[in-house]
Amino acid sequence: MNIAVLPSSPETAPQIADPLDHLADKLFHPMGSDGVYARTALYEGVVERLAALITSHRETGTEVMRFPPVMSRAQLEKSGYLKSFPNLLGCVCGLHGTEREINAAVSRFDAGGDWTSSLSPADLVLSPAACYPVYPIAASRGPLPKGGLRFDVAADCFRREPSKHLDRLQSFRMREYVCIGTPDDVADFRERWMVRAQAIARDLGLTFRVDYASDPFFGRVGQMKAVSQKQQQLKFELLIPLRSEEQPTACMSFNYHREHFGTTWGIQDTNGEPAHTGCVAFGMDRLAVAMFHTHGTDLPAWPAKVREIMGMQPLATADAHGEGWR
Ligand code: AMP
Ligand code: ZN
Repeated sequence: MNIAVLPSSPETAPQIADPLDHLADKLFHPMGSDGVYARTALYEGVVERLAALITSHRETGTEVMRFPPVMSRAQLEKSGYLKSFPNLLGCVCGLHGTEREINAAVSRFDAGGDWTSSLSPADLVLSPAACYPVYPIAASRGPLPKGGLRFDVAADCFRREPSKHLDRLQSFRMREYVCIGTPDDVADFRERWMVRAQAIARDLGLTFRVDYASDPFFGRVGQMKAVSQKQQQLKFELLIPLRSEEQPTACMSFNYHREHFGTTWGIQDTNGEPAHTGCVAFGMDRLAVAMFHTHGTDLPAWPAKVREIMGMQPLATADAHGEGWR
């Protein structure tokens, strides 16, 4: 697959292809839509090993939940998503009419017309992040125990941000560790994970830096939210310079939501106060792309230390760089 922007004629100056484009053929098969790709065995193998590595760092007492790629529309609406990112949301729609109405829509399509005008929204949206469904589940269990609750969640996520860049997908995998507790529980949790996540990135041989960040809030009011989020240091990101130092790619995020979800869902901490929440999110697809960009697509040639951390078979002889086991 060649998704680079190529010159339209020999006269036009050749445009520089995106630095990640050379990976496309090895990692993905096109599916007819930007940012939605079938994945090769090579790619998927690395995603699975990254997932296992993240699992190996799971704290004891963490409850595992895996979510489908869709979630309740009402729950996401209640979470306030439309106030912040309405432009990114994907909503499930269906032909909900009578048999006659549905047949009319199909007939219009058969005649070369538009069937989608008959669609109406279902009670589902495509999950834009893995952690949203966990808060109402936690709320249903009553007041929090001492020390709060911790979860390990994952989902296929959707964000309507089509792009030709391999590190900006519309459909991507997100893994998260979530903490629900007192402000101190959440602060400690985020601190621990910011240290641990950087150790993981170092083990993986990735170049990175961690910086304050803000979410891409929609519109002009959103810009103010972003400034306030940065000032309050509610979000940090682990940034990897995949295409440039100036525009690095966020591959993990460390988020503090304060009492937003605790208030929304009526979760109380041990002091009877609205619970605070935080999450550490791993962008599985971005991390995998970062691994291939950094170490190449020839797995036997990856540094021996990285292969070891990833649980790959030791090579019979020293690896391609002659480093062997360090
Ligand atoms: P966020 O909730 O925006 O902090 O997202 C959590 C993580 O998901 C990010 O750090 C990225 O690694 C990953 N992610 C977010 N958006 C995308 C996207 N469009 N394509 C691939 N990965 C993404
Ligand atoms: Zn989250």
